[in-house]
Amino acid sequence: MSALSIEPAASLALAAVTPISKPSLAGMDRAQLAQALTAVGVPASEAKMRVAQLHHWLYVRGAASFDAMTNVSKHLRALLAEHYTLDRPEIIAEQISADGTRKWLMRMPSSGPADKGAEIETVYIPDESRGTLCVSSQVGCTLSCSFCHTGTQKLVRNLTSAEIVAQLLVARDRLGDWPGQEPPEGAIVPVDGGRFVSNVVLMGMGEPLYNYDNVTAALKVMSDQDGLCLSRRRITLSTSGVVPMLGPLGEGINPALAISLHATNDNLRNELVPLNKKYPIADLLDACRNYAGLSNARRITFEYVMLKGVNDSLAEARALVKLLKGIPAKINLIPFNPWPGTFYECSDWEQIEAFSDVVFNAGYASPIRTPRGRDILAACGQLKSESQKMRAKERLAIEADAMKKLAVEAFYAHGAED
Ligand code: SAH
Ligand code: SF4
Repeated sequence: MSALSIEPAASLALAAVTPISKPSLAGMDRAQLAQALTAVGVPASEAKMRVAQLHHWLYVRGAASFDAMTNVSKHLRALLAEHYTLDRPEIIAEQISADGTRKWLMRMPSSGPADKGAEIETVYIPDESRGTLCVSSQVGCTLSCSFCHTGTQKLVRNLTSAEIVAQLLVARDRLGDWPGQEPPEGAIVPVDGGRFVSNVVLMGMGEPLYNYDNVTAALKVMSDQDGLCLSRRRITLSTSGVVPMLGPLGEGINPALAISLHATNDNLRNELVPLNKKYPIADLLDACRNYAGLSNARRITFEYVMLKGVNDSLAEARALVKLLKGIPAKINLIPFNPWPGTFYECSDWEQIEAFSDVVFNAGYASPIRTPRGRDILAACGQLKSESQKMRAKERLAIEADAMKKLAVEAFYAHGAED
Protein backbone atom coordinates (compact mmCIF):
# COMPACT_ATOMS: atom_id res chain seq x y z
CA MET A 1 0.00 0.00 0.00
CA SER A 2 1.53 3.30 -1.07
CA ALA A 3 0.37 5.17 2.06
CA LEU A 4 2.78 3.06 4.08
CA SER A 5 5.85 3.66 1.97
CA ILE A 6 9.22 3.06 3.56
CA GLU A 7 11.82 5.57 4.72
CA PRO A 8 14.76 4.86 7.03
CA ALA A 9 14.27 5.30 10.77
CA ALA A 10 15.85 8.43 12.15
CA SER A 11 17.43 6.71 15.09
CA LEU A 12 17.52 3.46 16.97
CA ALA A 13 19.20 3.01 20.30
CA LEU A 14 19.55 -0.22 22.22
CA ALA A 15 20.16 -0.33 25.96
CA ALA A 16 21.78 -3.03 28.03
CA VAL A 17 19.73 -5.33 30.26
CA THR A 18 19.95 -4.65 34.00
CA PRO A 19 18.23 -6.90 36.51
CA ILE A 20 16.19 -5.07 39.13
CA SER A 21 15.98 -6.49 42.63
CA LYS A 22 14.35 -3.98 44.99
CA PRO A 23 10.75 -2.95 44.29
CA SER A 24 10.24 0.43 42.66
CA LEU A 25 7.86 3.07 44.02
CA ALA A 26 7.51 4.70 40.59
CA GLY A 27 3.92 4.48 39.39
CA MET A 28 2.41 3.59 42.78
CA ASP A 29 -0.79 5.24 43.95
CA ARG A 30 -1.24 6.86 47.38
CA ALA A 31 -2.46 3.66 49.04
CA GLN A 32 0.50 1.66 47.72
CA LEU A 33 2.93 4.36 48.81
CA ALA A 34 1.38 4.31 52.30
CA GLN A 35 1.84 0.53 52.43
CA ALA A 36 5.44 0.82 51.30
CA LEU A 37 6.15 3.39 54.02
CA THR A 38 4.46 1.36 56.72
CA ALA A 39 6.40 -1.72 55.65
CA VAL A 40 9.70 0.00 56.48
CA GLY A 41 8.46 1.22 59.85
CA VAL A 42 7.19 4.75 59.18
CA PRO A 43 4.66 5.37 62.00
CA ALA A 44 1.00 5.64 61.02
CA SER A 45 0.84 9.19 62.43
CA GLU A 46 3.46 10.34 59.90
CA ALA A 47 2.35 8.25 56.94
CA LYS A 48 -0.16 10.69 55.43
CA MET A 49 2.31 13.56 55.35
CA ARG A 50 5.08 11.34 53.98
CA VAL A 51 2.81 9.96 51.28
CA ALA A 52 1.97 13.51 50.19
CA GLN A 53 5.71 14.31 50.01
CA LEU A 54 6.58 11.20 48.03
CA HIS A 55 3.62 11.71 45.72
CA HIS A 56 4.70 15.28 45.03
CA TRP A 57 8.30 14.32 44.31
CA LEU A 58 7.30 11.43 42.09
CA TYR A 59 4.50 12.99 40.07
CA VAL A 60 4.95 16.76 40.19
CA ARG A 61 8.74 16.95 40.19
CA GLY A 62 9.54 13.70 38.41
CA ALA A 63 12.21 12.71 40.97
CA ALA A 64 14.22 9.71 39.87
CA SER A 65 16.30 9.44 43.04
CA PHE A 66 15.54 9.69 46.76
CA ASP A 67 18.41 12.18 47.11
CA ALA A 68 16.39 14.75 45.19
CA MET A 69 13.71 14.77 47.89
CA THR A 70 15.16 17.63 49.88
CA ASN A 71 12.26 18.09 52.31
CA VAL A 72 12.36 14.43 53.34
CA SER A 73 14.68 13.70 56.26
CA LYS A 74 18.06 12.17 55.46
CA HIS A 75 17.20 9.23 57.66
CA LEU A 76 13.99 8.42 55.79
CA ARG A 77 15.67 8.90 52.40
CA ALA A 78 18.33 6.39 53.40
CA LEU A 79 15.72 3.98 54.71
CA LEU A 80 13.71 4.21 51.50
CA ALA A 81 16.80 3.78 49.34
CA GLU A 82 17.72 0.69 51.32
CA HIS A 83 14.43 -1.02 50.51
CA TYR A 84 13.13 0.59 47.33
CA THR A 85 14.13 2.21 44.07
CA LEU A 86 12.48 4.80 41.85
CA ASP A 87 13.45 2.81 38.77
CA ARG A 88 11.32 3.09 35.67
CA PRO A 89 10.81 0.39 33.10
CA GLU A 90 13.94 0.05 31.03
CA ILE A 91 13.92 1.31 27.45
CA ILE A 92 15.36 -1.49 25.34
CA ALA A 93 14.72 0.15 21.99
CA GLU A 94 13.88 3.69 21.01
CA GLN A 95 12.93 4.90 17.56
CA ILE A 96 12.54 8.54 16.66
CA SER A 97 10.71 9.49 13.49
CA ALA A 98 11.65 12.50 11.43
CA ASP A 99 8.24 13.96 12.39
CA GLY A 100 9.01 13.69 16.11
CA THR A 101 7.04 10.52 16.83
CA ARG A 102 8.86 8.32 19.33
CA LYS A 103 8.36 4.64 19.95
CA TRP A 104 9.78 2.95 22.99
CA LEU A 105 10.04 -0.76 23.59
CA MET A 106 10.11 -1.06 27.38
CA ARG A 107 10.96 -3.91 29.66
CA MET A 108 9.15 -3.92 33.01
CA PRO A 109 11.21 -4.66 36.12
CA SER A 110 11.23 -8.35 36.94
CA SER A 111 8.85 -9.26 39.76
CA GLY A 112 10.81 -12.39 40.74
CA PRO A 113 13.12 -15.12 39.48
CA ALA A 114 10.46 -16.62 37.18
CA ASP A 115 9.67 -13.26 35.54
CA LYS A 116 12.12 -12.03 32.90
CA GLY A 117 10.30 -8.71 32.71
CA ALA A 118 7.35 -8.11 30.42
CA GLU A 119 7.99 -6.14 27.26
CA ILE A 120 5.53 -3.61 25.92
CA GLU A 121 5.46 -0.68 23.57
CA THR A 122 4.54 2.94 24.17
CA VAL A 123 4.28 5.55 21.43
CA TYR A 124 4.53 9.35 21.70
CA ILE A 125 2.95 11.44 18.97
CA PRO A 126 3.64 15.18 19.15
CA ASP A 127 1.58 17.78 17.40
CA GLU A 128 1.62 21.57 17.49
CA SER A 129 -1.21 21.75 19.95
CA ARG A 130 -0.86 18.50 21.89
CA GLY A 131 1.41 15.60 22.68
CA THR A 132 -0.30 12.21 22.86
CA LEU A 133 1.02 9.15 24.60
CA CYS A 134 -0.34 5.80 23.41
CA VAL A 135 -0.18 3.48 26.41
CA SER A 136 -0.41 -0.33 26.69
CA SER A 137 -2.63 -2.04 29.26
CA GLN A 138 -1.63 -5.70 28.80
CA VAL A 139 1.26 -7.67 27.41
CA GLY A 140 -0.35 -9.13 24.29
CA CYS A 141 -4.11 -9.65 24.18
CA THR A 142 -6.46 -12.62 24.58
CA LEU A 143 -9.12 -11.35 22.23
CA SER A 144 -7.76 -12.44 18.82
CA CYS A 145 -9.38 -9.87 16.55
CA SER A 146 -8.63 -11.32 13.13
CA PHE A 147 -6.99 -8.17 11.69
CA CYS A 148 -4.83 -7.37 14.75
CA HIS A 149 -1.27 -8.54 15.19
CA THR A 150 -1.35 -8.13 18.96
CA GLY A 151 -4.17 -10.68 19.04
CA THR A 152 -1.83 -13.30 17.58
CA GLN A 153 0.51 -12.97 20.56
CA LYS A 154 -0.39 -15.07 23.49
CA LEU A 155 -1.21 -12.97 26.52
CA VAL A 156 1.68 -12.90 28.89
CA ARG A 157 -0.07 -10.94 31.60
CA ASN A 158 -1.99 -7.86 32.70
CA LEU A 159 0.13 -4.83 33.45
CA THR A 160 -0.08 -3.57 37.02
CA SER A 161 -1.41 -0.08 37.59
CA ALA A 162 2.12 1.09 38.48
CA GLU A 163 3.42 -0.29 35.16
CA ILE A 164 0.75 1.59 33.27
CA VAL A 165 1.57 4.85 35.07
CA ALA A 166 5.29 4.22 34.62
CA GLN A 167 4.88 4.44 30.84
CA LEU A 168 3.93 8.09 31.32
CA LEU A 169 6.88 8.66 33.67
CA VAL A 170 9.32 7.18 31.15
CA ALA A 171 7.92 9.34 28.38
CA ARG A 172 8.22 12.49 30.49
CA ASP A 173 11.77 11.51 31.53
CA ARG A 174 12.83 11.04 27.91
CA LEU A 175 11.16 14.27 26.81
CA GLY A 176 12.59 16.35 29.65
CA ASP A 177 8.98 17.07 30.59
CA TRP A 178 9.55 17.77 34.31
CA PRO A 179 10.11 21.15 36.00
CA GLY A 180 13.61 22.43 35.40
CA GLN A 181 14.42 19.93 32.66
CA GLU A 182 15.33 20.61 29.06
CA PRO A 183 13.84 18.71 26.12
CA PRO A 184 16.19 16.56 24.04
CA GLU A 185 17.67 18.16 20.95
CA GLY A 186 15.27 18.26 18.04
CA ALA A 187 12.16 17.57 20.16
CA ILE A 188 8.94 19.25 19.05
CA VAL A 189 8.26 21.82 21.76
CA PRO A 190 4.57 22.56 22.52
CA VAL A 191 3.66 25.97 21.03
CA ASP A 192 1.90 27.20 24.16
CA GLY A 193 4.82 26.30 26.41
CA GLY A 194 2.59 23.58 27.86
CA ARG A 195 3.40 20.00 28.65
CA PHE A 196 4.90 17.57 26.18
CA VAL A 197 2.42 14.89 27.16
CA SER A 198 -1.00 16.55 27.27
CA ASN A 199 -3.11 13.54 26.24
CA VAL A 200 -3.12 9.82 26.90
CA VAL A 201 -4.86 7.19 24.75
CA LEU A 202 -5.19 3.55 25.81
CA MET A 203 -4.72 2.22 22.32
CA GLY A 204 -1.51 0.29 22.80
CA MET A 205 -1.27 -3.43 23.47
CA GLY A 206 -4.16 -5.13 25.17
CA GLU A 207 -7.83 -4.78 25.98
CA PRO A 208 -7.99 -2.19 28.79
CA LEU A 209 -11.39 -3.34 30.06
CA TYR A 210 -10.02 -6.85 30.60
CA ASN A 211 -7.64 -5.26 33.06
CA TYR A 212 -10.23 -2.94 34.55
CA ASP A 213 -8.97 -2.53 38.12
CA ASN A 214 -5.38 -1.79 37.17
CA VAL A 215 -6.34 0.50 34.30
CA THR A 216 -8.77 2.57 36.36
CA ALA A 217 -6.30 2.78 39.26
CA ALA A 218 -3.64 4.01 36.81
CA LEU A 219 -5.99 6.59 35.32
CA LYS A 220 -6.68 7.88 38.83
CA VAL A 221 -2.97 8.42 39.39
CA MET A 222 -2.56 10.07 35.99
CA SER A 223 -5.44 12.47 36.64
CA ASP A 224 -4.64 13.28 40.29
CA GLN A 225 -4.74 17.08 40.58
CA ASP A 226 -1.84 17.08 43.05
CA GLY A 227 0.26 14.87 40.84
CA LEU A 228 0.42 14.10 37.14
CA CYS A 229 -2.70 16.22 36.70
CA LEU A 230 -3.92 15.06 33.28
CA SER A 231 -7.47 16.10 32.54
CA ARG A 232 -9.82 13.10 32.28
CA ARG A 233 -11.18 14.68 29.11
CA ARG A 234 -7.72 14.21 27.65
CA ILE A 235 -7.60 10.52 28.47
CA THR A 236 -9.24 8.19 25.92
CA LEU A 237 -9.85 4.51 26.50
CA SER A 238 -10.29 2.33 23.41
CA THR A 239 -12.17 -0.93 23.82
CA SER A 240 -13.30 -3.75 21.58
CA GLY A 241 -16.58 -3.65 23.49
CA VAL A 242 -16.54 -5.23 26.95
CA VAL A 243 -20.16 -4.20 27.51
CA PRO A 244 -20.55 -4.93 31.27
CA MET A 245 -17.61 -2.68 32.14
CA LEU A 246 -18.84 0.41 30.24
CA GLY A 247 -21.35 1.35 32.94
CA PRO A 248 -18.83 1.26 35.81
CA LEU A 249 -16.24 3.03 33.66
CA GLY A 250 -18.61 5.90 32.91
CA GLU A 251 -19.80 6.19 36.51
CA GLY A 252 -16.24 6.00 37.82
CA ILE A 253 -13.24 7.48 36.03
CA ASN A 254 -15.32 8.49 32.99
CA PRO A 255 -12.58 8.92 30.39
CA ALA A 256 -13.34 9.74 26.77
CA LEU A 257 -14.43 6.54 25.05
CA ALA A 258 -13.39 4.97 21.75
CA ILE A 259 -15.16 1.83 20.51
CA SER A 260 -13.55 -0.52 18.01
CA LEU A 261 -16.63 -1.19 15.90
CA HIS A 262 -15.19 -2.19 12.50
CA ALA A 263 -18.39 -3.77 11.15
CA THR A 264 -22.06 -2.88 10.80
CA ASN A 265 -23.58 -6.36 11.20
CA ASP A 266 -23.07 -9.12 13.73
CA ASN A 267 -21.99 -11.76 11.21
CA LEU A 268 -19.02 -9.76 10.04
CA ARG A 269 -18.21 -8.36 13.47
CA ASN A 270 -18.19 -11.89 14.93
CA GLU A 271 -15.43 -12.64 12.46
CA LEU A 272 -13.42 -9.46 12.93
CA VAL A 273 -13.93 -8.93 16.67
CA PRO A 274 -14.83 -12.33 18.14
CA LEU A 275 -15.87 -10.69 21.43
CA ASN A 276 -18.96 -9.65 19.46
CA LYS A 277 -20.32 -13.19 19.90
CA LYS A 278 -20.57 -12.43 23.59
CA TYR A 279 -21.61 -8.78 23.33
CA PRO A 280 -23.34 -8.15 19.99
CA ILE A 281 -23.61 -4.78 18.27
CA ALA A 282 -27.07 -3.89 19.63
CA ASP A 283 -25.96 -4.46 23.24
CA LEU A 284 -22.75 -2.54 22.66
CA LEU A 285 -24.55 0.46 21.18
CA ASP A 286 -27.08 0.43 24.03
CA ALA A 287 -24.24 0.58 26.53
CA CYS A 288 -22.75 3.44 24.49
CA ARG A 289 -26.01 5.39 24.55
CA ASN A 290 -25.96 5.11 28.33
CA TYR A 291 -22.30 6.05 28.79
CA ALA A 292 -22.15 8.76 31.45
CA GLY A 293 -21.60 12.36 30.42
CA LEU A 294 -22.22 12.01 26.69
CA SER A 295 -22.95 15.21 24.82
CA ASN A 296 -22.00 16.83 21.53
CA ALA A 297 -18.92 18.17 23.24
CA ARG A 298 -18.11 14.70 24.61
CA ARG A 299 -18.78 12.29 21.79
CA ILE A 300 -17.85 8.62 21.54
CA THR A 301 -15.28 7.82 18.88
CA PHE A 302 -16.12 4.78 16.76
CA GLU A 303 -13.08 3.19 15.21
CA TYR A 304 -13.47 1.50 11.86
CA VAL A 305 -10.50 -0.24 10.26
CA MET A 306 -10.63 -0.14 6.47
CA LEU A 307 -10.31 -3.68 5.09
CA LYS A 308 -10.39 -4.05 1.32
CA GLY A 309 -13.47 -5.90 0.09
CA VAL A 310 -14.42 -6.86 3.66
CA ASN A 311 -16.11 -3.89 5.34
CA ASP A 312 -15.44 -0.94 3.02
CA SER A 313 -18.46 -0.79 0.69
CA LEU A 314 -20.49 2.39 0.47
CA ALA A 315 -23.55 0.41 1.57
CA GLU A 316 -21.64 -0.30 4.80
CA ALA A 317 -20.78 3.38 5.14
CA ARG A 318 -24.50 4.16 4.97
CA ALA A 319 -25.30 1.33 7.39
CA LEU A 320 -22.68 2.73 9.77
CA VAL A 321 -24.19 6.20 10.00
CA LYS A 322 -27.67 4.69 10.37
CA LEU A 323 -26.46 2.47 13.20
CA LEU A 324 -24.95 5.38 15.11
CA LYS A 325 -27.99 7.63 14.77
CA GLY A 326 -28.80 9.31 18.05
CA ILE A 327 -25.39 8.66 19.64
CA PRO A 328 -23.09 11.69 19.91
CA ALA A 329 -20.37 10.14 17.78
CA LYS A 330 -17.22 10.64 15.77
CA ILE A 331 -16.04 8.07 13.26
CA ASN A 332 -12.38 7.24 12.82
CA LEU A 333 -11.51 5.48 9.62
CA ILE A 334 -8.23 3.65 10.24
CA PRO A 335 -6.27 2.45 7.21
CA PHE A 336 -5.51 -1.22 7.88
CA ASN A 337 -1.86 -1.78 8.65
CA PRO A 338 -0.84 -5.15 7.23
CA TRP A 339 1.47 -7.52 9.09
CA PRO A 340 3.28 -10.70 8.03
CA GLY A 341 0.84 -13.57 7.60
CA THR A 342 -2.38 -11.54 7.48
CA PHE A 343 -4.81 -12.22 4.65
CA TYR A 344 -6.41 -8.77 4.87
CA GLU A 345 -5.44 -5.81 2.71
CA CYS A 346 -5.94 -2.13 3.31
CA SER A 347 -8.76 -0.56 1.30
CA ASP A 348 -7.72 1.50 -1.71
CA TRP A 349 -7.27 5.15 -0.86
CA GLU A 350 -10.06 6.18 -3.25
CA GLN A 351 -12.41 3.79 -1.46
CA ILE A 352 -11.46 5.21 1.93
CA GLU A 353 -12.19 8.68 0.56
CA ALA A 354 -15.52 7.63 -0.90
CA PHE A 355 -16.45 5.91 2.38
CA SER A 356 -15.40 9.03 4.28
CA ASP A 357 -17.57 11.21 1.98
CA VAL A 358 -20.67 9.20 2.87
CA VAL A 359 -19.86 9.57 6.56
CA PHE A 360 -19.15 13.29 6.14
CA ASN A 361 -22.36 13.92 4.21
CA ALA A 362 -24.29 12.29 7.03
CA GLY A 363 -22.95 14.98 9.37
CA TYR A 364 -19.83 13.40 10.88
CA ALA A 365 -16.43 15.05 10.52
CA SER A 366 -14.29 12.69 8.46
CA PRO A 367 -11.13 14.25 7.05
CA ILE A 368 -8.45 11.80 6.01
CA ARG A 369 -4.92 12.66 6.95
CA THR A 370 -1.90 10.85 5.63
CA PRO A 371 -0.45 8.88 8.54
CA ARG A 372 2.68 10.35 10.08
CA GLY A 373 5.73 8.56 11.41
CA ARG A 374 5.88 6.31 8.37
CA ASP A 375 9.60 6.00 8.73
CA ILE A 376 9.14 4.36 12.11
CA LEU A 377 6.34 2.10 10.92
CA ALA A 378 8.42 1.03 7.99
CA ALA A 379 11.51 0.68 10.06
CA CYS A 380 9.76 -2.15 11.84
CA GLY A 381 10.47 -4.25 8.76
CA GLN A 382 13.93 -2.82 8.26
CA LEU A 383 14.79 -3.24 11.88
CA LYS A 384 15.31 -6.93 11.36
CA SER A 385 18.73 -6.69 9.80
CA GLU A 386 19.92 -4.10 12.29
CA SER A 387 18.59 -5.95 15.29
CA GLN A 388 19.80 -9.48 14.81
CA LYS A 389 21.08 -9.12 18.35
CA MET A 390 17.56 -8.60 19.61
CA ARG A 391 15.49 -11.61 20.48
CA ALA A 392 12.63 -12.51 18.17
CA LYS A 393 10.13 -11.62 20.89
CA GLU A 394 11.46 -8.10 21.15
CA ARG A 395 11.24 -7.63 17.41
CA LEU A 396 7.71 -8.98 17.41
CA ALA A 397 6.70 -6.57 20.12
CA ILE A 398 8.07 -3.67 18.10
CA GLU A 399 6.22 -4.78 15.00
CA ALA A 400 3.01 -5.79 16.70
CA ASP A 401 1.92 -2.37 17.69
CA ALA A 402 3.02 -0.36 14.71
CA MET A 403 -0.62 -0.32 13.69
CA LYS A 404 -1.71 1.28 16.91
CA LYS A 405 0.08 4.39 15.73
CA LEU A 406 -2.34 4.48 12.80
CA ALA A 407 -5.27 4.23 15.17
CA VAL A 408 -3.99 7.21 17.16
CA GLU A 409 -3.39 9.17 13.96
CA ALA A 410 -6.92 8.45 12.82
CA PHE A 411 -8.21 9.46 16.23
CA TYR A 412 -7.03 13.01 15.69
CA ALA A 413 -7.61 13.10 11.96
CA HIS A 414 -11.31 12.64 12.44
CA GLY A 415 -12.20 15.54 14.62
CA ALA A 416 -11.51 14.34 18.16
CA GLU A 417 -11.39 17.01 20.85
CA ASP A 418 -7.99 17.50 22.31
N1 SAH B 1 -7.85 -3.46 22.54
C1 SAH B 1 -8.36 -2.17 22.37
C2 SAH B 1 -7.29 -1.08 22.30
C3 SAH B 1 -6.05 -1.38 21.51
S1 SAH B 1 -6.25 -1.54 19.80
C4 SAH B 1 -9.27 -2.10 21.18
O1 SAH B 1 -9.35 -3.08 20.43
O2 SAH B 1 -9.95 -1.09 21.02
C5 SAH B 1 -6.31 0.14 19.21
C6 SAH B 1 -6.99 0.25 17.82
O3 SAH B 1 -6.14 -0.29 16.80
C7 SAH B 1 -8.30 -0.53 17.76
O4 SAH B 1 -9.33 0.24 17.16
C8 SAH B 1 -7.91 -1.68 16.87
O5 SAH B 1 -9.04 -2.24 16.27
C9 SAH B 1 -6.94 -1.03 15.91
N2 SAH B 1 -6.12 -1.99 15.15
C10 SAH B 1 -5.68 -3.20 15.56
N3 SAH B 1 -4.96 -3.80 14.58
C11 SAH B 1 -4.94 -2.95 13.54
C12 SAH B 1 -4.34 -2.99 12.24
N4 SAH B 1 -3.61 -4.02 11.84
N5 SAH B 1 -4.51 -1.92 11.45
C13 SAH B 1 -5.21 -0.84 11.86
N6 SAH B 1 -5.79 -0.75 13.07
C14 SAH B 1 -5.67 -1.79 13.90
FE1 SF4 C 1 -6.90 -7.09 21.46
FE2 SF4 C 1 -7.70 -4.67 20.58
FE3 SF4 C 1 -6.07 -6.24 19.09
FE4 SF4 C 1 -8.63 -6.92 19.43
S1 SF4 C 1 -7.86 -5.06 18.38
S2 SF4 C 1 -6.84 -8.30 19.58
S3 SF4 C 1 -9.00 -6.25 21.53
S4 SF4 C 1 -5.57 -5.31 21.06
